[in-house]
Amino acid sequence: MEYAMCTLITGNRKFGSLVGVTAHELAHTWFQFLMATNEGKHEWMDEGFTSYISSEAINQVNQEYAPNPHTGSYRGYAFLANSGKEEPQTTHADRYASNRAYGITAYSKGAVFLAQLGYVIGKENLNKTLKQYFTDWSFKHPTPNDFIRVAEKTSGIELDWYLMDWTQTTKTIDYGIKSTLMGEKSTTITLERIGAMGMPIDLDVTYKDGTKEQFYIPLQMMRGEKPINFKGLKRTLAKDWAWAYPTYTLEIDNGKEILAIEIDGSQTMADVNRENNVFKAQ
Ligand SMILES: [Zn+2]
Repeated sequence: MEYAMCTLITGNRKFGSLVGVTAHELAHTWFQFLMATNEGKHEWMDEGFTSYISSEAINQVNQEYAPNPHTGSYRGYAFLANSGKEEPQTTHADRYASNRAYGITAYSKGAVFLAQLGYVIGKENLNKTLKQYFTDWSFKHPTPNDFIRVAEKTSGIELDWYLMDWTQTTKTIDYGIKSTLMGEKSTTITLERIGAMGMPIDLDVTYKDGTKEQFYIPLQMMRGEKPINFKGLKRTLAKDWAWAYPTYTLEIDNGKEILAIEIDGSQTMADVNRENNVFKAQ
């Protein structure tokens, strides 16, 4: 349990648990103490940001270097979203119907807010955003809108839709591959938006010759794109998807035969049903 300048940690813990709780309570030095956010009204900016930062730190300190150290938070969030007991993150910390809904919403969904923002604007832009947020807002009681404005100015992407749908509603994200039509020289892929929350799509395509390519489909209301360069992976910018359209068609006409297609192969978009995200050629 954290208090400014004093942290209480229970004894008789296993080593991993002791490291985890120590990292968590240390991270509170920034989230909430330095930022001085309102813990009752915006509990996810406190526990969620702390969970995100401590998982990132442990991943480095323990030399695990997992590409996504937040998988536990994604699993927790998906469990709550699919249970029907989720309440919006704007709910006051003391007003949730159950302690479990409060805990997962503040800690897990709050950590996913940041990890998934990295999917939307790019990880480098997310890191820059967090540093700028400290510089601009330490000791000033920032609100959710203050944070998202820093992310918008840093990335050049409009993000009001992300803040609203993720924090003020219980709308969920579910995209699927509806159909795949293989012609002689081209493949027509139809994607569908099943969940009510719109998101940009990273579509990972593996060809039969062993090469890979990622098609990046920005969400129209982002009014921008994340950086296209991405560690060795070929990324191709596709046309925008306006969120209200339930389907989107992409034609790949490079003459290559397709082996597999996956929506968000990095699994950093919080899709609540991943079963319809994958297509494998027979
Ligand atoms: Zn905490």
